[in-house]
Amino acid sequence: MTDLSWKAVLFDLDDTLIDYSSAAAVEHESAGRLIQPHLPTGAMPEFWKRFHGHLARHHAEVDTGRVTVDDYRERRLRHALKPWCEPSPELAAAVASCADATAARVELHQGVMGVLRSLRSAGVLVGIITNGPEGIQNGKCARLGLTAAVDTVVTSQDVGRTKPDAAVFHTALERLHTLPRQAVVVGDSWENDVMGGLRAGLGAAVHIRRPNTPVLTAPGLLGRLAHVDRELLGMLEVRHGGS
Ligand SMILES: [Mg+2]
Repeated sequence: MTDLSWKAVLFDLDDTLIDYSSAAAVEHESAGRLIQPHLPTGAMPEFWKRFHGHLARHHAEVDTGRVTVDDYRERRLRHALKPWCEPSPELAAAVASCADATAARVELHQGVMGVLRSLRSAGVLVGIITNGPEGIQNGKCARLGLTAAVDTVVTSQDVGRTKPDAAVFHTALERLHTLPRQAVVVGDSWENDVMGGLRAGLGAAVHIRRPNTPVLTAPGLLGRLAHVDRELLGMLEVRHGGS
């Protein structure tokens, strides 16, 4: 068994433990087919730019529960279609059902359950910290067996803040009775997971690069956690070099 000095590991959910991007790509295609007949020729790129621009500006409102998922989706579609038309209730419901299908479609990355079992059998506490509405994120965790496979799941809606806010990391660590410096964060977002975790005082961070997660095999991840201090130094060099 790898000798780990870490007391807890916090995992991001989407595109770290589960393959969110593949499911979202299917949603993108299905929603595009619904929208296309309502737009003039050649307008799809501008529609998606408006759609994703709204997402980037307002996701924290829905991720912290200040706006309901239904209201958020309706507003986003209305904003994206504004130059051309008003969405009918039927179109809005059909586009929303594409998004619901994403949560129902996501699957675990290969080897994830083995990693979680290995960590817990080594005496390491395991948490999930995820940005998103609690109904959707907890629903995915329950369906995929993650809720029972970890010690705590913290959503941004539970905390009222989104990663990279330190409150999300600290809430999870308080539940695990663990000090930040005794914990490692593992995630695919450089800003939200890696830098957010380091700014929150976590001892180290492991960056999972999209679209594949080859480190998520039990020996691979355990090995990386055992040597993560050296990796952390490398990450800090990257940060300094880029700033
Ligand atoms: Mg992620």
